[in-house]
Amino acid sequence: MKRWGIITTLLAVLLVAAAFRLAEKQGWLSLGAEAESMDGVIQEIALRDSGQKLWVKQDQLYKGDLLLVNSEHKVGAEGTQPDITELAGKPELLGRAALLDHKIELSRRVALKFAAMLDAAAEDGVTHFMISSGYRSEAKQSELYAQKGGDYALPPGYSEHHLGLSLDVGSTEGTMAKAEEGKWLEKNAARYGFVLRYPADKTQITGIAFEPWHFRYVGLPHSVIMQRNHLVLEEYLDLLKEKKTLSTKVDGESYEVCYYSPDEIAQLRVPKNRDYALSGDNRGGLILTVYP
Ligand SMILES: [Zn+2]
Repeated sequence: MKRWGIITTLLAVLLVAAAFRLAEKQGWLSLGAEAESMDGVIQEIALRDSGQKLWVKQDQLYKGDLLLVNSEHKVGAEGTQPDITELAGKPELLGRAALLDHKIELSRRVALKFAAMLDAAAEDGVTHFMISSGYRSEAKQSELYAQKGGDYALPPGYSEHHLGLSLDVGSTEGTMAKAEEGKWLEKNAARYGFVLRYPADKTQITGIAFEPWHFRYVGLPHSVIMQRNHLVLEEYLDLLKEKKTLSTKVDGESYEVCYYSPDEIAQLRVPKNRDYALSGDNRGGLILTVYP
């Protein structure tokens, strides 16, 4: 009897230890897990409950706000946002921006965020924005590619414009590199979830020349982390892959970001009591963003 008691206790201890190790691996129980501080942005991961298991469909890996699209990573059929819409005649989506042509389309969700950002710019007296391009179909990109050639346009399938998350925005007052509109966006866009996708000093990494007009929506807190640490999307996704979990504060609110490599996705846990979003990285990984 006594021996069985000892064996049962031992088994129970082993089971609890195994459960803790599993939970720790998933990031939700990582008591003070080490997350390197980068300019004070990334803080210790807080204690979380173990969350609930979520089955992820394969197509989830190829959609979302954090998809990497470049000469090596093509947009898949799932990559385009489901809410693409024309902007012309919709003041709630256009805000204060002028349109170069009335056929310009964008994700409705992203257009709303962009319009809200331009309201903030107007409060600073910056108002002369002009949207010159938004969502592009592969057919439209083919046309552009044929017209402009490989030095000035990406081949169809490899442009971020297929996602519906990117737009080209200029100033009616001059070139974006010099106009107040360009300076304002470069400084402030991250607070609204947008990033200057092709900065002048990252052309080696992005493979694209400086485009002061091309902005990409990635959402909070990603845009802010990228700006604070001076990272483009390629570098940020590499950082996530390496660190696995980041936590950060934006305007005093806490966000958490967890990266799952293809072989870890089966262990995905999502929080029970907080809002979250999932996005693929277009490289087989999955990113969980937990909102305040
Ligand atoms: Zn563009």
